[in-house]
Amino acid sequence: MRQNQPKKTVASTIKSVKPLVIATWKTDLAVETAAAYLAKGASALDAVEQGCRIEEANEKGQSVGKGGLPDRDGNVTLDACIMDEKGNYGAVLGVKNIKHVISVARKVMEDTPHVMLVGEGAEQFAVSKGFERENLLTEASKKAWEKWKIKSEYKPIINIENHDTIGMLAVDKDGNISGACTTSGLAYKLAGRVGDSPIIGGGLFVDNEVGGASATGLGEEVLKTVGSFLIVELMRQGKTPQEACEIAIGRIVNKPGKDFKNFQVGYIAVNKQGETGAYSIHQWFSYNLFKNGENKNIQSNYFNKA
Ligand code: ASP
Repeated sequence: MRQNQPKKTVASTIKSVKPLVIATWKTDLAVETAAAYLAKGASALDAVEQGCRIEEANEKGQSVGKGGLPDRDGNVTLDACIMDEKGNYGAVLGVKNIKHVISVARKVMEDTPHVMLVGEGAEQFAVSKGFERENLLTEASKKAWEKWKIKSEYKPIINIENHDTIGMLAVDKDGNISGACTTSGLAYKLAGRVGDSPIIGGGLFVDNEVGGASATGLGEEVLKTVGSFLIVELMRQGKTPQEACEIAIGRIVNKPGKDFKNFQVGYIAVNKQGETGAYSIHQWFSYNLFKNGENKNIQSNYFNKA
């Protein structure tokens, strides 16, 4: 009888998991960096932090870290969160002047009794931990904002085709899973707006017994369906990562009257067996996957084939 079958233990499943990294969008270098850390025996937590730092430092990327597009008042504000294999979580929201917010989020998780710090408090905390203040608005992003200001159309822009928020999940040699997510949020957002990326269960969720998931795209829609948490819970119930990502996208697009034509959401997921999944509303969502020693950028399957 089913009830009498021994429960699969974590120890019995990790054997089949190779060091693995999966991250949203075309994030070759970030994933390669995380994989290199794993190869040296680093924890999944160190790997995702170091991988995300690559994108935060990449000034050409206009949606993460330095060079991120500002809010409509011209301020670059960053959001990030991190989760380890023990279920610990740390996040910072709406932080100005600090590039490596993923590392600040880790400090919140490890060095404070809290899980979230916001705005000025988060910035002051970062400085107290030795992070340097710097201007995050690059010339290119300033120019883009100045161009946007001419019309000042308040219509948050979702980057359907290119590179965006980085959400990253890694499985280390011990089979432990951690995740991280970092972003400058929606371009030209209202000052103070925060999306899904730094919110537990929204932009990121990890349960080391089951797997992890991360999101990119219109954070408001991810939050309303608690997307990453939903995916992990679906995997707990036996869905594959791919099935779970597809159901989570379904929760968004199948809402009565939902006009999903003008926004994108993409999910990635990994389970304890090292199986991965990805799904988005529209075409052009891609993800990087490092598995069996190879790092590939892969186009995700998507819902809107119309
Ligand atoms: N999810 C991010 C946010 O809503 C933005 C993105 O991924 O493009 O802030």
